[in-house]
Amino acid sequence: MAWMCSGKTNDELVDNLVKARIISSSQVISAMRAVDRAHFSKQYPYEDSPQGIGYGATISAPHMHGYALEGLVEYLKPGMRALDVGSGSGYLTACMAAMVGSNGHVVGIEHIPELADQSLVDLRAHYPEWVNDKRIEIVTGDGRLGHNEGAPYDSIHVGAAAPKKPTELLAQLKAPGRMFVPVGTNSQYIVVYDKDESGNVTEDRVMGVRYVPLTDAAMQLMG
Ligand code: SAH
Repeated sequence: MAWMCSGKTNDELVDNLVKARIISSSQVISAMRAVDRAHFSKQYPYEDSPQGIGYGATISAPHMHGYALEGLVEYLKPGMRALDVGSGSGYLTACMAAMVGSNGHVVGIEHIPELADQSLVDLRAHYPEWVNDKRIEIVTGDGRLGHNEGAPYDSIHVGAAAPKKPTELLAQLKAPGRMFVPVGTNSQYIVVYDKDESGNVTEDRVMGVRYVPLTDAAMQLMG
């Protein structure tokens, strides 16, 4: 049912994601209701497909955002710390911030400065208290290296495809913690990495996907 959840409003889109059983947790449903995609996507915000946001980037499809938040729900509890690599539009970073609440912290890291700046403009305009109370932080930089200053994280979401197992990011994951990341070049899979209390990492291939690559900014801008 993925790709078939489009709506005319944000609420209708969320209703359709629920009907398709892509999202079911109350925390995910309330976060996706609280954060309106139209604040982050100028075009077709309620279509269940990725939309261009410039600079070779897209805001991911709503069903992928839904799968990601559901996959990480146990690690986005109130008070937890999260990292969103390739934060792009800032939409998912905002949903994560809604879930971790006022005592939590979410860092979005994006390597295209214009996108990082625009996401901050949109976040400040619509969720000013989340920016002011530092619940949400947007950093411009190479997300392949994560953001060590904020580590360790209960959860890490990666919004672009890593060519191989992202070991630098896994090092910044808490024990226990969970990462949701597309991995691969020609064929890509969502891989969920789980780190247990002792630091052992296991992985689970969840589904085949197509994401823009986690890459150098110059490579991305060349298309
Ligand atoms: N999750 C976001 C963006 C998805 S597109 C959203 O839904 O809006 C993937 C994003 O990853 C793009 O914004 C791209 O610029 C960014 N990106 C790609 N490689 C990166 C890197 N090495 N470091 C940080 N961001 C990167």
